[in-house]
Amino acid sequence: MTTPFTLGLHEIGADTYAYLQPNGTWGYSNAGLVVSGDQALLVDTLFDVPMTRTMLEVIAQALPGVTINTVVNTHSDGDHWWGNELVADATIIASEAAAKVMREENLLDLLNTPPASFQVPPIVNHMSETFDFKSITPTPPNRSFSGELEVAVGERTVRLIEVGPAHTPGDVLIHVPDAGVVYTGDILFIGGHPVIHTGPIARWIDACNLILDLNADTIVPGHGPVIGKAEVRAFRDYLERLRDHAVRSHRAGLTAMQAAQTLDMAGFANWDDPDRIVLNIGAVYRELDNEPHEAHSEMALMGCMHTYTATTTYPAPTEPRIAPRSRAEMAALSTRLEGIPAKLLADDGDSPLAGRPVLNVLATIGNNPDLMVALAPLLAQLAMGEIPGRERELAILRVAHRTGSAYEWEHHIRIGAAAGLTEAEIARVPLDVNEADWSDADRALLRAVDELVADQIVSAITWQGLAAHYSTAQLIELLALVGTYTTIAGILKTCRVQLDDWVTEPATGNAA
Ligand SMILES: [Zn+2]
Repeated sequence: MTTPFTLGLHEIGADTYAYLQPNGTWGYSNAGLVVSGDQALLVDTLFDVPMTRTMLEVIAQALPGVTINTVVNTHSDGDHWWGNELVADATIIASEAAAKVMREENLLDLLNTPPASFQVPPIVNHMSETFDFKSITPTPPNRSFSGELEVAVGERTVRLIEVGPAHTPGDVLIHVPDAGVVYTGDILFIGGHPVIHTGPIARWIDACNLILDLNADTIVPGHGPVIGKAEVRAFRDYLERLRDHAVRSHRAGLTAMQAAQTLDMAGFANWDDPDRIVLNIGAVYRELDNEPHEAHSEMALMGCMHTYTATTTYPAPTEPRIAPRSRAEMAALSTRLEGIPAKLLADDGDSPLAGRPVLNVLATIGNNPDLMVALAPLLAQLAMGEIPGRERELAILRVAHRTGSAYEWEHHIRIGAAAGLTEAEIARVPLDVNEADWSDADRALLRAVDELVADQIVSAITWQGLAAHYSTAQLIELLALVGTYTTIAGILKTCRVQLDDWVTEPATGNAA
C-alpha cells in the first residue's frame, strides 16, 4: 500500500496513522497516531501552535470520541514538540537526553529576541517569518526514559527505542509491532538532505540498520513521504558516503565548505536542501576534531549555507540563465574573429578542444557579439603568452577552484594535462597551498591566485616569490590572466553555462 504524500492524516495500517506535511523541508515535519478503542498515542506535535491545532482538529474530525492520552516526542527539535501545550493533559514522553534539552535550551528566546551580537542565519530568519514562534509556551515532557520503554495504548503495545545521540542528543524510534509500522522521527529524512546536529554519525548509521532489522515494512520518516526499507538503505548509503568523504577531506586539509562542494552527489542529486551538506560535513568535522556540538558553531555554519548554494554548481542547475547562441549564429560571428588562433575556436589539432563544436562559454558570451569579438584576442593572447602553459593552467585551475567554477575546472583539467600538469598535481590543486607538495615557484603562483581572488592584491612576500621566478612581462600577464579567468568564472556561474556535451565524465579531485 503506497501512501500519497499529501497534507493530512493517512491510515497506514490498522488503526495506525501518519500525519504528513509536504514537502518536508525546514519545519514541515510528520506526526503519527496509534489508536486502540477510544485511546490514542500521538507521535510528535508540530512546529508551532496553529499548525498543531489544525492537526488535532483533523484527527478529532476523523476519529470522533478518541482521546490522546499519550504523546511521544521523538526528539528535541522544535518541529517535533513546540505544539505540546495543546496536549498538555496527556502523558508526554521523551528520552531523558531529549527531555533535558527541551527543559534547558533557550532557542525560542534566541529566535524571538536575538541579542544584537547574534547574526541570525538567513534560513532561521525565513523560519521565523513562516512559523509563529511568538505564541509558543514551551511544554517539555512529563515522563522520560533511557534505553527502551513499552507503552500500552488501550489493548496495544508500542515500543520506544532510544537510538540517540545521532540526529540530536536523544532520538527515539517508535515501533508498533502489531501493525508493522515504525515512526523514525528525524532519524530519516526522505526526499531531502538530513541535518546532523550532534552525531555521532556512526550511531545514526547504526540506527538505520536497527530500523532495517525491525519487523516493520511501513516506515514514517520525520520529514518526507511514507516509505519501505529500500529507501532506508539508500539513506544509510548517503550517511556512509558523507562520512567517508568527510574523513578523506579532513585528512587532505580541505575546509568543511570545500568538502561539502566536492561530495559525490550521484544518487542524491535530486534531494531537496542540498545546502544542508555544509552542516553535515561540519558535524563530522567536529567529531573528527573532538569538538563538542554547540549551538553557536552550528548557527555559524548555517550562515554559510548560502555560500554553498552560490558557489556550488554540482549538481549543476540544468537550465542556463542565458542560453548559448546557436552554432549557425556563432559560425556567422567567426568571420569577425579572423586572425584569432584556431586554438580558441576549438579546432587546433593539439588542443583537447580540437574538433569540438564552439564552446558553450563562447556561445554564451556570443550573446553580445561585439564583446565576444573584443574578448577573443585577449583570451588568445593569454593562451599563447609568456608564461609556460603548465603554470598558466595551474593558475587557471586554482582560479576555477577558488571561484567554484565547475565549467572552468572541467575544461582546464584537460587542457592542463595536455600542457604538462600531472594527475597528482591536478589532484593537489584544491588543497591547502602550505601543506601540499609544491615547488617554491608553484606555491607562490597558487598563493598569488588566492590573494588576487580574495583581495585583488598580491602580498609582499608572495610578490617576492613570484619576482624571483618571472620576468616583468610575465608578472603583468599573470595578473591579467587571474583577473580574466575570474571574470570568466563569474560569467559561467551567473549565466549557469552548462558543461559542453563532450565533457561526459566529471573528473574528480575538485570542487565545484
Ligand atoms: Zn524535524
